[in-house]
Amino acid sequence: MSTAVASPMNRLGSTALAGAMTSAYWERIFTARERGAQVVWYNGSAVNVIFQAAGLEWCHGEAFSARLAAQHLEKPAQLAGEEYGYVGELCSYARTHLGCAVLTQQAREEENSGVVGMVDQRELASRLPAPDFFVNAYAGCSTGQQWDEISYRVFGKDVPIFNVSLPFLWGNKPDAGYLRGQEWEEATTYVSDQLHDLIRFVEQMTGRKFDFDRLREVMSYVKKASELRREAMAMCKAAPTPATYWDWIASIAPINFLPAGPELVAYFQAVRDEVAQRLADGVPGIANERYRLYFDGIMNWNKLGYLARKFAEYDVAVVCGRYTHNAFWQEPHLIDTDDPIRGMAQHYLLCPTNHGVRTLKYLTNRDCADYGVDGIVFHSTRTCRAFTNPQHLLAKSAQKELGIPSMFFEGDVADASFYKEEILESRLVAMLEGIDVRRARALA
Ligand code: SF4
Repeated sequence: MSTAVASPMNRLGSTALAGAMTSAYWERIFTARERGAQVVWYNGSAVNVIFQAAGLEWCHGEAFSARLAAQHLEKPAQLAGEEYGYVGELCSYARTHLGCAVLTQQAREEENSGVVGMVDQRELASRLPAPDFFVNAYAGCSTGQQWDEISYRVFGKDVPIFNVSLPFLWGNKPDAGYLRGQEWEEATTYVSDQLHDLIRFVEQMTGRKFDFDRLREVMSYVKKASELRREAMAMCKAAPTPATYWDWIASIAPINFLPAGPELVAYFQAVRDEVAQRLADGVPGIANERYRLYFDGIMNWNKLGYLARKFAEYDVAVVCGRYTHNAFWQEPHLIDTDDPIRGMAQHYLLCPTNHGVRTLKYLTNRDCADYGVDGIVFHSTRTCRAFTNPQHLLAKSAQKELGIPSMFFEGDVADASFYKEEILESRLVAMLEGIDVRRARALA
């Protein structure tokens, strides 16, 4: 088994553009006030397409927390949240963003009182412009559903708020299944109606009539980008894989919350073309692919680069995962660009934490089989129960249905103190040895 220190990763060159696009997006948010733009803070589903069509600037709370964690800048915001009274076991995404809300509110008060001088380390979080209104559209997690309500309280309850209620898809009825059944159809209609209500609320907030033609245009870019993303992902069923899970993680920001336009489509066209070229030339995503794993769990943003290197050092290509492959406009055929509301509602319901276990088992086992996976890595995310809740059932199901082993490691979305490095390494080694033994037996 390889324990080489030098990284054998071969990340896609095209995804480097995602970093630049994301930085440009945040710079635009930071300067929104100077440009006289209205700002909406939101969480959960990609309702940003509605904000884009309405000419608003949008700040996605989770994305901002993930960004701070990936840059190791999350602590000042988390400390502000802690001082305000949020316990360390609260979802670290929410805790970080609520800390940002506290800092933003403090900055606003200091500005109004003429007192200036926020300490430097706080500056990044406090650069978020205060919201003109909130929208919450969170599926599958009660923390997410209450998050904006709590931000609303931090801002003294004088900022308007709109909640989109996204029902959990239990998937237990006889006719229920992925993208089918009475529950799916009824939930779709229920959410579609609320999106029309949200649009009326946005009209009130902006004082302008909503531009449905612009929404159709925005959704046509989303659909095209999503098709290219899915096409590129499907090419990674090949062994060795031309790209890895970490490349799809790098592409989350563009598909999840960046403005949809020609630049977004060009980004995914470049990613798709690079993957296709690699496939044609036999260029792999890691130097020496010997194992193919599935990653279940939300991302550990503090350890992103480290994890990518760690798996590659053990000749592991992480090829797909629940967070990347079962989220983010993942079913583009559902989007009717002439009448996009229903397909949007369906995607908001298709959050990977919003399914009952039966559907999750189906999706996990389907992807493990399609991508020729040898084992599953479960990121047991300390403060994100929505993702961790079904993990032991999924592990059992993959073992029983496909004979695939799994391992768990402890970490968190945006709080590095919960990460246990020795556990990851020792359990990974044990699982890979088990895979080797099984392979040897199969050959005997
Ligand atoms: S607990 Fe998980 S799903 Fe819920 S808000 Fe936090 S990160 Fe999102």
